[in-house]
Amino acid sequence: MANYDVIVIGAGPGGYVCAIRCAQLGLKVACVESRQTLGGTCLNVGCIPSKAMLHASEMYHEAHTHFDTMGLVGASPKVDLPKMLGYKQSTVDSNTSGIEFLFKKNKVDWLKGHGTITAPGKVDVAGTEYGAKNIVVATGSEAATLTGIEIDEDRIVTSTGALELKSVPKKMVVIGAGVIGLEMGSVYARLGSDVTVLEFLDHITPGMDSEISRTFQKLLTKQGLKFKLGAAVKSVEKLKTKLKVTYQVRKDESTETLDTDVVLVATGRKPYTENLGLAEAGVEMTDRGQVKTDAHLNTNVPGIWALGDVVAGPMLAHKAEDEGMAVAESIAGQRGHVNYGVIPGVIYTSPEVASVGKTEEELKEEGHAYTVGKFPFMGNARAKSHFAGDGFVKILADKATDRILGAHIIGPMAGDLIHEVCVAMEFGAAAEDLARTCHAHPTFSEAVREAALACGDGAIHA
Ligand code: NAD
Repeated sequence: MANYDVIVIGAGPGGYVCAIRCAQLGLKVACVESRQTLGGTCLNVGCIPSKAMLHASEMYHEAHTHFDTMGLVGASPKVDLPKMLGYKQSTVDSNTSGIEFLFKKNKVDWLKGHGTITAPGKVDVAGTEYGAKNIVVATGSEAATLTGIEIDEDRIVTSTGALELKSVPKKMVVIGAGVIGLEMGSVYARLGSDVTVLEFLDHITPGMDSEISRTFQKLLTKQGLKFKLGAAVKSVEKLKTKLKVTYQVRKDESTETLDTDVVLVATGRKPYTENLGLAEAGVEMTDRGQVKTDAHLNTNVPGIWALGDVVAGPMLAHKAEDEGMAVAESIAGQRGHVNYGVIPGVIYTSPEVASVGKTEEELKEEGHAYTVGKFPFMGNARAKSHFAGDGFVKILADKATDRILGAHIIGPMAGDLIHEVCVAMEFGAAAEDLARTCHAHPTFSEAVREAALACGDGAIHA
């Protein structure tokens, strides 16, 4: 029986990062993965392919909206969906094969097949048993569907099927105004679909700073997405050529229906914990179906660790990556640590939305006195030249100490801009520290500095 210091089950961003870091720290490591390619949901059917589709559809939209104004005239591009899917797939392939290369480079063994824990310290992969001093469960999550709605990944799809549609549907209904619904909804709206988003709550993007959420909904509405809020979807009926979506209007409990060609179910994801031998090994679960861990990601069974979407916290690739590194460091005897207070969240629509730290609603609820510094992209020269003046940066700082407590950005490159605030927060910086940092002109990042200035004596260009 081959023996390892560590066997990681799952080669998504949490698992593969953990395996590579274990190898870098001198441990003998294997990673179990049953997919034909490495990278998990994120690289194969999640973040990476959706970003390719977001990019392509954004370019298409740009060509039809601003090219002429910029003096770029001539035949307008048309959508060739099969070709676009080919581009998407080549992006996926280059990323997944990149992880395979990194495994070889770092001497991580890829054990191909489904992994099951047969006892503490033992993992079965496709009928072969392996020994491991440490087992890391990094099996990710799967789409959580609604009762009464049968996914066929053809007309009634999750994000996986939405990335493989054979043609651009005339009409699309998206169930759930969360991250997946709005990202994929914007892709198809830009490619020409008539998109209606049905959301159970009375606002989009639950958990987001509400001022950002309201602005976001307005901007998406301007782009053609339709929203029905307070709508609880009950069923989707397959008719011969159409789908009939039935939902309850929560305000008055009346029932309404919508006809559509495609339904995207984007109502959240659930941890993937089946057939892993967790119960048999005595691993405790939470009542939400996640693997229960302590602050260092140990389960209750010595030598079994868990991380990423199977444990508590936001289901984000980068949170899983950080946990992967922390677990590897802990196994190697170092002090692995994740700062859960500084995990950014990004929605890759156009404009992008990004946030880190506390929202205004959370600070109010905590009774925490704070100052708000806001700056609109309309006052940013670079944004104006890119037709990207919609949106703003908002920084929240402690009223007494000026320490940054949170930041929320809706606007161009928000997903990149947020990281200077993340670094500042890691160093416990005050808004004044950002405000006194020279930012190159003309860059979008000046809007972040101006918002920091607005926490003090005031922004210059507003
Ligand atoms: P989500 O939790 O972000 O949103 C689901 C939405 O569906 C919620 O607003 C909820 O109120 C609504 N909903 C639930 N039941 C409903 C019903 N019956 N009728 C109408 N609305 C209903 O979930 P998601 O968008 O599916 O994303 C899943 C996970 O994947 C999330 O944790 C997300 O963070 C992650 N993800 C992140 C990114 C990113 O970071 N850019 C991209 C994709 C996915």
